[in-house]
Amino acid sequence: MTENLIKQRIDRAQHIGVTAHIRPDGDAIGSVLGLGLSLMAAGKQVEMVLKDGVSNSFRHLAGTDQIKRSFSTECDLYIVVDCSDLKRTGGVLQGKTVGIVIDHHITNEQFAELNLIEPTSVATCAILAQNLPAWGFPITPDAARALLTGILSDSIGFRTSNTTSTSLRIAADLMDLGANISDLYNKALINRSFAATNYWGYALARLQHEDNLVWTALTLQDRANAGYTGNDDADLTNILSSIDPLDIAVLFVEQKADLTKVSWRARYGLDISGLAASFGGGGHPAAAGAEIAGSLDVVQKLVLEATRNYLDTAKVIDNTESNS
Ligand code: AMP
Ligand code: MN
Ligand code: MN
Repeated sequence: MTENLIKQRIDRAQHIGVTAHIRPDGDAIGSVLGLGLSLMAAGKQVEMVLKDGVSNSFRHLAGTDQIKRSFSTECDLYIVVDCSDLKRTGGVLQGKTVGIVIDHHITNEQFAELNLIEPTSVATCAILAQNLPAWGFPITPDAARALLTGILSDSIGFRTSNTTSTSLRIAADLMDLGANISDLYNKALINRSFAATNYWGYALARLQHEDNLVWTALTLQDRANAGYTGNDDADLTNILSSIDPLDIAVLFVEQKADLTKVSWRARYGLDISGLAASFGGGGHPAAAGAEIAGSLDVVQKLVLEATRNYLDTAKVIDNTESNS
């Protein structure tokens, strides 16, 4: 079984590199920390790397000060977590062989020698929490805080439809290991800076919809105006996905004059991961994203057109199913 092979592979390694995807979210950061800190506690030498570093909203987690933006030495094993394809690590593994991938994206390209992919899992942190003790790596209190943070942020506080009783049991076990859920919940999902809240305002002021398709955009100018220092959407997608009724919410975030980040959020019953994959991205049925070459205006037109087409097809399938 893959789990046993992973245990053997980690046992054999002494110097281990751990990384995740660019613009890391709570699950990417929590997975790097949860795995990294547990391996260190067991005496392994570990390098934790995230190409884009750690945003201020997760700096309260112990160990974030040890996360670097590139590998400084050669490791004998590289593990990638919460990342569906090699390119999304941001080039930090160029010329290296990936030994292990642990992930929950349905679109994972299985690019390592050993691939542990569980698409039904609520977060990569949940997969780690379930396996680390069996692999012989006890979860320290700091690792438990990191892992619970990942579960909370990917499930948006246990609100996504893939939240199961197992997700809650894993979270309860992490609480028993020292993680304070209300504190971590507030820090991961509720608290945000004045600048981030102001940044949202620009996008909310130009919110648009056609029936239950909702969209808006964040420009580089908005980021500068608000004084927001991150290069992400400051979790605005969580607000867009709370609009009711909703089929799909799309957020466009200008990255450069010719590069646009797109985030889709869909209601239960739709699957927008294929639509994101058709633009070179990926994700989950209800939450997916892509980085698309092109200006904000051009990408917005293209993506809205494709999303309308997807919705038209999905509605036909919906009707056929309800008639049968
Ligand atoms: P986001 O819209 O960035 O919050 O991402 C939603 C989901 O899609 C997350 O699980 C991401 O990991 C995944 N995702 C976002 N962008 C990409 C991409 N360019 N390639 C593959 N997966 C992505
Ligand atoms: Mn992630
Ligand atoms: Mn994840």
